[in-house]
Amino acid sequence: MPAAAKSPLKEKPVPEPTSAPGTGLSAVQRALRKLGLLRDIDFALYLPMRYEDETRIVPLAATRDGEMAQIEAVVTESEVVYRPRRQLIVTVDDGSDTCQLRFFNFYPSQQKQLAVGARVRVRGEVRGGFVGRQMMHPAVKAAGTALPEALTPVYSTIAGLAQPVLRREVRSGLARAVLDETLPPGAAPHGTWDLRRALNFLHYPAPDVAIATLEDHSHPAWQRLKADELLAQQLSQLQARRARSAQRAPVLEVDSTGGKLHKDLLGALPFALTGAQQRVGEEITRDLAREVPMHRLLQGDVGSGKTVVAALAAARCIDAGFQCALMAPTEILAAQHFGKLVNWLDPLLAERGLRVAWLTGSQKKKERDTMTAAVESGEAALVVGTHAVISEKVRFRHLALAVIDEQHRFGVAQRLALRGKAGGDFEPHLLMMSATPIPRTLAMSYYADLDVSTLDELPPGRTPIVTKLVADHRRDEVVDRIRAQLAQGRQVYWVCPLIEESEAVDLRNATETRDELAEALGEQVGVGLLHSRMPTAEKQSVMEDFTANRLQVLVSTTVIEVGVDVPNASLMVIEHAERFGLSQLHQLRGRVGRGAAASACVLLYSPNEGGRVGEAARARLKAMAETSDGFEIARRDLEIRGPGEFLGARQSGAPLLRFADLTNDALLLDWARELAPAMLDRHPELAARHVDRWLGSKAEYLKA
Ligand code: ADP
Ligand code: MG
Repeated sequence: MPAAAKSPLKEKPVPEPTSAPGTGLSAVQRALRKLGLLRDIDFALYLPMRYEDETRIVPLAATRDGEMAQIEAVVTESEVVYRPRRQLIVTVDDGSDTCQLRFFNFYPSQQKQLAVGARVRVRGEVRGGFVGRQMMHPAVKAAGTALPEALTPVYSTIAGLAQPVLRREVRSGLARAVLDETLPPGAAPHGTWDLRRALNFLHYPAPDVAIATLEDHSHPAWQRLKADELLAQQLSQLQARRARSAQRAPVLEVDSTGGKLHKDLLGALPFALTGAQQRVGEEITRDLAREVPMHRLLQGDVGSGKTVVAALAAARCIDAGFQCALMAPTEILAAQHFGKLVNWLDPLLAERGLRVAWLTGSQKKKERDTMTAAVESGEAALVVGTHAVISEKVRFRHLALAVIDEQHRFGVAQRLALRGKAGGDFEPHLLMMSATPIPRTLAMSYYADLDVSTLDELPPGRTPIVTKLVADHRRDEVVDRIRAQLAQGRQVYWVCPLIEESEAVDLRNATETRDELAEALGEQVGVGLLHSRMPTAEKQSVMEDFTANRLQVLVSTTVIEVGVDVPNASLMVIEHAERFGLSQLHQLRGRVGRGAAASACVLLYSPNEGGRVGEAARARLKAMAETSDGFEIARRDLEIRGPGEFLGARQSGAPLLRFADLTNDALLLDWARELAPAMLDRHPELAARHVDRWLGSKAEYLKA
């Protein structure tokens, strides 16, 4: 997780025995650090992924095929054979039966340990073949030492960190860790264990435990860990929310002109707002009129009309005499996406002696200087662009509102950079927009410090998009479909995935597809190509040609992923659809069906040699074919990927849950949500210790 990697570390330095040059850390310490293991408590909370049972010795005769077993036996034969390949074959006898042990890689020391006559303790999976019992590469030690009383933990590890070393480090970290109670008296969820008991047990469970309860995390010890983790997360988010409520933002109230720009913009729109847009607009207006900075996530499916809502918020801000910044993750998107809104706003601003400024990374210095000067003087009431908008050199006269489109594509650092832009002690109001709806439980948990508004209604007149799955060998039929659309004067997108590591190869693939289509469709049809490697100006001109219908077919890599808006496009073909993520497919599909015409999305997939598509890929394609509801898609995406990955791709810096699982632990989440505010009020020191224990130095980071 980048959050953890970048955050400053609070731990005392541990004395190092051997140091690699330049780093001051031993190889083991570097490996531990990579696993996030620094403080004693980190070790204590590093739980085994599974266990081995070394507590019992069983007679060979009682073992079954496929069973993990530990035996003690005498070596009766030991030889190295060379055919079919070099291996050590050892026969052992425990009095009940014999077993053959095979080793393909072995050291002289092992050979010595397994000399004829030696008594050994052997642990491994018993296979009962025709030639009698066998174990491949079992673990071997001398017989007769005391048996452990608990199961042996197996931790997930990385190269350079041997399991026994990690086990020893965790054991000593656990022994040193301060595990005193941080929950207020009587607050622990019913039936769960206290933390010290739970951790000692989970690292070293009694052998009679029902293993299934450890595996599915339903054991009372697990319940306590999950509860603690969820509580830490809720507490830290609540702290962030309270810290923000102490901050001040400009109060954006309707001025003496009665919100003239807002009114004029509403009048200039060629449509009426949907009910959802109106409702969300009011929510935002209320937030802006408060002196606490707004921190709102506006989520709505592709095409639900988020941009207009943002534009109206900008108008409110400008009516109150302040500046507004609008940011999109890419230049194409910034241009395409805000182009329309700028067209509406520009004349209205001009009447008031104000203007829109553009700021992007690829701008010529001269143009950029003009723009930044307009931003600094306040003449640019609206500043639109990429993250260049928040670069250090840009100084606002009085920024009061920042709108971030496709917020998951912006890092926490970029959001932080915004905070310094309002000037004085003020923070700007923040409106973040996302086309990927977050399921409710996730939103409650991860965005507890955000207010969420949802556009749950599409503008009227949209016709549903028909989605078809087509195997790649039926490409010709797809070309026929394209012809049919073109014959009706419609336009078509064809998306190629990023397949190769190298952009050059991707470009070649996309170029070939463009050439093939141009050839198949004939000379009258304009087929354009858009690729992330092209210079921005070229991309922009291709986009303009497509928007103006000078190009009828647009072949592109995923640069069109978000935001482009060409209502005349009625067919979307996605090649190698099995390689795309579910929400990405949904976003792409959202590029069509923007006008009144019936639209379709063709998902071309290539079965692999076995004639099959992987299970997850099949689930994604199926979901696409079955539903076009963004919330349903998000729910299935969550199901297919799990919350970690689902959010990982979206929210850099969000603390992912290691133990709790939001789909199964909704009750514990409710408990944590209820306890957190009371605990912050009545037991602030306990709350601080609890958050520090679980999130340590990451907690600071969350305040972003
Ligand atoms: P998204 O939420 O995906 O960003 P946009 O803001 O790009 O959606 O809006 C999609 C399209 O719908 C745009 O062409 C926009 O002008 C249009 N639109 C937005 N609101 C309405 C409305 N209330 N009625 C009709 N069309 C609308
Ligand atoms: Mg949008």
